Amino acid sequence: MRWNRVKAEIAKARVAIEGATSIAIVSHIRPDGDAVGSLLALTIGLRSIAKHATPVLADGVPNRFKFLPGARDVQESLPSTWDLLIAIDCSDLERTGFSMEFMSKEPDINIDHHPTNTRFGSINLIDPQAAASAEILYHLFPELGIAIDIDMATNLLAGLVTDTIGFRTSNVTSGVLDVAARLVERGADLVEVYEQSLNKRTLDAVRYWGCGLSRLEQEDGIVWTSLTIDDRKRVGYPGTDDADLINLLSTIAGSEVTLIFVEQSDQKIKVSWRSRALLNVADLAATFGGGGHDRAAGAIIDGKMEEVQTKVLSATKAALEPVLEL
Ligand code: 5GP
Ligand code: MN
Repeated sequence: MRWNRVKAEIAKARVAIEGATSIAIVSHIRPDGDAVGSLLALTIGLRSIAKHATPVLADGVPNRFKFLPGARDVQESLPSTWDLLIAIDCSDLERTGFSMEFMSKEPDINIDHHPTNTRFGSINLIDPQAAASAEILYHLFPELGIAIDIDMATNLLAGLVTDTIGFRTSNVTSGVLDVAARLVERGADLVEVYEQSLNKRTLDAVRYWGCGLSRLEQEDGIVWTSLTIDDRKRVGYPGTDDADLINLLSTIAGSEVTLIFVEQSDQKIKVSWRSRALLNVADLAATFGGGGHDRAAGAIIDGKMEEVQTKVLSATKAALEPVLEL
């Protein structure tokens, strides 16, 4: 089993956790279901072995994930001290939203499944084959002597369901489905987790989609659109994200790569890439200072909407052309 490769790191993590009393845990900015679910499962698990665990998200818990057990405990800033700092689901240090000034040193333990992970921790538990960080935690807990209760199972299942968009990404193996089954066995409610974390939409989110859908374009196997600050103002959408419109667009037949450009400010554009099969978009995102997975990646790029669109579309076309010809 592939966990053997990280056995030595797991042993080191166990010693580090055993020796700590207070543990701060951070996940990434613009947290998704895996970030929140994994953070909360780890918090509850560490508390069950008498650790003082503080879960931290620089951007707080998005409304969609507030139903998760323990969500109310999440802090938006790091505690003043800790014995051990764990980063979960963060591919690099910047993704935590906290600079070194706040951390004083790099996190002690780095748990993640992004292939672009920079191994910034003293101990690195990285499995790029895992469908979610939640899957890594599921296998890690028994090694730490932590039993998975119903609240942890719910959080881990939310991580799996959201990162695999409801078990439909190409990294969903029988092993992933088996983990999900074991979590349901421990009491997690799959229908509820699915409904709350993935299915449910607000009216303003769907109206926001409408703004993006009205500008939809397709060319050379690429489908793209944009969402602006003005769109959000018009429909009253409270977030700064794409309201998961990318997942809808990536179902369009004939699109090999899907892109969304979401305006953050006059000079900052968030770009999301989704690839059906041929193109590794993590590599592409990395050339723009971002990262992610082979089939789902993102970056925040400086510049105005039009210039970022031109740059990113031409780089994506250039990368896609040779693979389409294969
Ligand atoms: P999304 O496009 O949904 O924001 O993110 C897709 C994937 O790319 C996720 O795995 C996410 O962690 C990663 N990602 C998104 N934005 C960034 C970014 O700015 N930097 C890095 N390193 N990864 C990102
Ligand atoms: Mn993840």
